[in-house]
Amino acid sequence: MVLLYPPFAIQIVQVVSMYENVTVIAGPTSVGKSTIVAEILATHPDIYYSVSATTRSIRPSEIDGKDYHFITDAEFDELIAKDGFLEWAKVHELYRYGTLTAPLLDALRAGKKAILQIDLQGALQIRNKLPDATFIFIAPPTFGELRKRLDDRATESEAEKVLRLRTAEHELQAENEFDYIVVNDDLQQAVAEVVKIIYR
Ligand code: 5GP
Repeated sequence: MVLLYPPFAIQIVQVVSMYENVTVIAGPTSVGKSTIVAEILATHPDIYYSVSATTRSIRPSEIDGKDYHFITDAEFDELIAKDGFLEWAKVHELYRYGTLTAPLLDALRAGKKAILQIDLQGALQIRNKLPDATFIFIAPPTFGELRKRLDDRATESEAEKVLRLRTAEHELQAENEFDYIVVNDDLQQAVAEVVKIIYR
């Protein structure tokens, strides 16, 4: 039998439990993940949002440092070399996106709850590294609705839309790998469900 010196035992409990405060939100393109997350953050400013780094170019509606850290390919390579990412992936066969480890750990050590809004590949990497985290898949009511939302959003070219829908088909098959599936039919209801899961 191993007897742990009490302060050490307490430290272990703290380290293990802090990852329970991580909620990973994934789901296919244009399903409404960003809108759901924005609604939650507006009403729960105590939650830390993990701002990812990406090599994609900025959209007119976005703010650098708030929506993403928009960085160059060379800067992304440098972060990989420095082990700065908890996970990273090339999404839609186009651009790289990654979760920065240091600011996330700072928030968790400060006792905060954290939300990561990432793709399926990233979610699976996090599940291997942080099995105590909670994984939520946001699903569309139908695949046709997903296509409609992508058209309505009008932020991608036709070629990019084809790529995104191809990824979406693959991602939809993985929903059973998640702890929870929330169907985004009614936005407010989906937000309420996600909040309930985060604070359960
Ligand atoms: P968008 O270009 O539409 O903002 O995002 C494209 C995809 O990249 C979305 O599915 C989004 O969830 C995902 N994504 C955003 N940040 C990250 C990240 O840090 N890591 C991974 N793996 N995917 C991300």
